[in-house]
Amino acid sequence: LRRAKESGRIEIYRNRAFTEARRRFSIETELRRAIENDKLSLAFQPIVSLGEDRLVGFEALARWRTEAGEEIAPGDFIPVAEESGLIIPLGRWALDAAGRMLARWEAETGQVLPLSLSVNLSAIQLIRDDVPRQLEDVLHRHGLGGHRFTLELTESAIINDPDRAARVMGALKDLDARLAMDDFGTGYSNLAMLQSLPVDILKIDRSFVTTMLADRDKVAIVRAVLSLAHALGMETTAEGVETIELSQTLAALGCTYGQGFHYAPPLDAATALAFWSRWQP
Ligand code: C2E
Ligand code: MG
Ligand code: MG
Ligand code: MG
Repeated sequence: LRRAKESGRIEIYRNRAFTEARRRFSIETELRRAIENDKLSLAFQPIVSLGEDRLVGFEALARWRTEAGEEIAPGDFIPVAEESGLIIPLGRWALDAAGRMLARWEAETGQVLPLSLSVNLSAIQLIRDDVPRQLEDVLHRHGLGGHRFTLELTESAIINDPDRAARVMGALKDLDARLAMDDFGTGYSNLAMLQSLPVDILKIDRSFVTTMLADRDKVAIVRAVLSLAHALGMETTAEGVETIELSQTLAALGCTYGQGFHYAPPLDAATALAFWSRWQP
């Protein structure tokens, strides 16, 4: 009986692993096609200066609706893209699409918008692709200055190959881009490394922010990150600002920027531009 049970369990495990593998494979196949046919889009989430209540930019986030009309979350397709290497074309597409949109907004409004766009970079892009070269192309193609971009990196991008990461980051700074450390606090933070790299902004992961008003330990962590950033001359962005209380508390603690559902969720391009217009004094 026990053997039968065991083998039944193995069978269930096999089936589950098989289903999972099949799903990944179909995501990979469809994603490759979606990238080739320009079927991905970007959503734009406002980033607000907490001190002055001013909209300073948007984070560009990849969105994918399959041909069958199913919306797949980045949390599901980004890992597949990273494992399959598709993150390279996807990352190139995202950087270019962000630049294209900023240039289009400026053409539509007839003004240079004081906005910067944040684009996420995967560790794999940093190590295997030539991101500075791509940024240079994007800036050239769309007639934009490098200061219009903030590139968001994660700690894993740096841990894997610190020398290469430092070189790439230096080259991005030479193009005048700003650099943010995304999801800060969730990885293996090497503080010595952090101090030696040209990071402009620490983004405090939303797992510390969203529930901090009900959790003393989280407040302590947020305070520690804020004072670390201050000591290193970096700015800070709190992710997951879902309520006005959070926004006020973070402003009082000296956090530079906030991003979260309290201001707006990620928006489609037209809604993002309208949102920007409404925020102008
Ligand atoms: P991230 O870079 O940390 O982006 C922030 C995520 O938090 C976004 O999820 C956003 O929708 C969500 N968020 C923002 N405000 C709130 C809030 O107040 N409450 C809650 N609960 N969530 C909030 P999203 O769009 O699902 O993206 C997930 C992750 O996928 C991103 O995390 C990023 O790591 C990755 N990603 C998205 N687009 C790209 C891309 O173009 N390239 C790469 N390499 N990664 C991407
Ligand atoms: Mg990000
Ligand atoms: Mg983040
Ligand atoms: Mg995050």
